[in-house]
Amino acid sequence: MAHYRKPIAAAVGLNTGIFAVEAVAGYQASSLSLIMDSFHNLSDELALVCLYLAFIVARGPSQKLLRSANLFNSVGLIAVSGLLLWQAVERLWNPVPVHGVVPIVVGLAAAAANWGVARLLLEPSRNNAAIRLAYIHNMGDVWVSLAPVVAGVLLLLTSYSFFDSLIAGTIAVWIIVTTGREVFESHEELIWPEKIVCGHPDHAESRAAES
Ligand SMILES: [Zn+2]
Repeated sequence: MAHYRKPIAAAVGLNTGIFAVEAVAGYQASSLSLIMDSFHNLSDELALVCLYLAFIVARGPSQKLLRSANLFNSVGLIAVSGLLLWQAVERLWNPVPVHGVVPIVVGLAAAAANWGVARLLLEPSRNNAAIRLAYIHNMGDVWVSLAPVVAGVLLLLTSYSFFDSLIAGTIAVWIIVTTGREVFESHEELIWPEKIVCGHPDHAESRAAES
C-alpha cells in the first residue's frame, strides 16, 4: 500500500495548486467562471485527502466520518454554487469588467494540472477501484477547467463580460443538479472506500459507467 502514498500525496499537492491559483487569479481578474472552478477543485481536494488518509491510517477513516465528510462537502459545494449563481445573475444587471486573458491562461494551466493529477493516479488506479474513480473524475475535470477558457475567448472576441457570468452560472447549475442528485439518490451508498464519493458529481456517473 505504501507505493500508493507518494502518487496520491503528489496529486493532493498539485490539486491544491490548481484551486489556489484559480482562486487568486479569479479574484484579481473578477472572473466568476475561474472562481467557480476553483471551488469545484477545492471540493475535489477532500476526495483526494480521503483517499490519502485511507492509505496512511491503518484502518482508514471510519465509514461514519467519511459519510459525514461527503455530505458536508456536497452541501458546502451546493451552497457555494448557489451563491456564485446568484452573483452571476446579479452581474447581468450590474456588469463588472473581467480580464479575458486571465481565465484563458489560468484555465489552460488548470486543465493541464488536472490532467497531471489524473496521470499521477493512473498507475495506482490499475489495482484499486477507489483510485480508479478518482482518476476518471480528474480526466473529466480537464474538460471542466476548459470552461473558463471558453469564457475568456468569448470575452476577448466580443468584449461582453456577460459570457464569464453565463459560463460561471452554467457550471454552478450543473454542480447543483448533479451534486444534489447524488446526495438524494445515494443514501447508504454515500460511503467509501468501496465507492469513493467524497462530494463529487461525476463519481456517480463513473459508478454508473462501471456497473
Ligand atoms: Zn471535480
